[in-house]
Amino acid sequence: MNTSLQARRDAISRALDAIKDPLSGNGLVTAGRVGNLLVSADGGVVFAIEAPAGEAQRFAAVRDAAEAAVRALEGVAKVTVVLTAHAEGPAKPHAPHPNQPPRQAQGIPHVAMVVAVASAKGGVGKSTVAVNLAAAFAAMGMRTGLLDLDVYGPSLPTLLGIGGRKPVFGPDKMLRPIEAHGLRTMSIGYIVDPEQAMIWRGAMATSAVRQMIDEVAWGHELAPLDILVLDLPPGTGDVQLTLAQRIPLDGAIVVSTPQEMALADVRRGIMMFDKTHIPVLGVVENMAWLETPAGRVHIFGDGGARRTATAAGVPFLGELPIEVALRESADAGTPFVIANPDHPLTARFKDIAAAALANAALAAKPAPTIRFE
Ligand code: ADP
Repeated sequence: MNTSLQARRDAISRALDAIKDPLSGNGLVTAGRVGNLLVSADGGVVFAIEAPAGEAQRFAAVRDAAEAAVRALEGVAKVTVVLTAHAEGPAKPHAPHPNQPPRQAQGIPHVAMVVAVASAKGGVGKSTVAVNLAAAFAAMGMRTGLLDLDVYGPSLPTLLGIGGRKPVFGPDKMLRPIEAHGLRTMSIGYIVDPEQAMIWRGAMATSAVRQMIDEVAWGHELAPLDILVLDLPPGTGDVQLTLAQRIPLDGAIVVSTPQEMALADVRRGIMMFDKTHIPVLGVVENMAWLETPAGRVHIFGDGGARRTATAAGVPFLGELPIEVALRESADAGTPFVIANPDHPLTARFKDIAAAALANAALAAKPAPTIRFE
């Protein structure tokens, strides 16, 4: 490291040590709360503040003060502070180096096809759809993996009833997926407490996602996967962009509820995938209606997602009604499609899965070549 970088590091350390650790009363550096300090030549600074488990809230103010103090220093262009609150730390995601060049998109080893399930908003049933579509692919005879990248609210541990099972590292230092209900699965929630994940800021979430993509062995000593389903975090932000740069997605499935507010976001989501050249395999309308003794009630409106998909020029994959048993099976830790193989709702999931596959095959078809002779 050259002297000016070293001088900048020292200045940063001094500035951080001038901020008090609320627990010991010492400076942050002296108290050992600052980790992973990275300083790049172009003025990028990344560091972690390590709070004891359960103290994340109290340390949010410390993080903000630290960020402000470092930003005020000369020669600092950009500061990323990651607040971590680890009880114990297996596979701690590392902060990305600010100078890290964007990597070329590369396929995931031993995975034939990657499909993402996305939504513009939380709470529309994206994870429920991802899990049951994965189960539907498996029921169709495909070797299927499921990767929960919803760093801000990983739900796979609950949806699959994983309990306290933890993934293990192989001799190659790659994580092995956990087998559950015939699926090979991995979730940020298997590694860190989901409540800790909620406090991650952008850079931390992005680096956790990178790790999940790069450091999981999906088929190394097993037969390769036919398909890997990704459960993306809601929204259209950094994590989705990171993905688009990292792996060539075969397509995205967008989940929405029928109401107008949700649909404006869906249009934005479709645009984001367009911009990143990821084919939208189609839109799924979840919570489309509730079956009552008096007939179907369209609680959130009727057919909005289909109209939005049509207007945006992307396929519509199908509707899923509100079904109490679907929520119950989610809470019970068995995917609905597996627990209820002959249910009409399972048939809907399978139809959607088949339509998505067909659209992926269409999207993958090379453009016709025109030859002049
Ligand atoms: P998201 O991943 O979009 O945040 P979830 O999949 O976690 O949403 O679903 C939110 C809640 O709604 C969960 O309790 C889930 O069980 C329930 N849910 C999702 N889809 C349906 C549906 N079609 N019928 C009944 N409950 C549903």
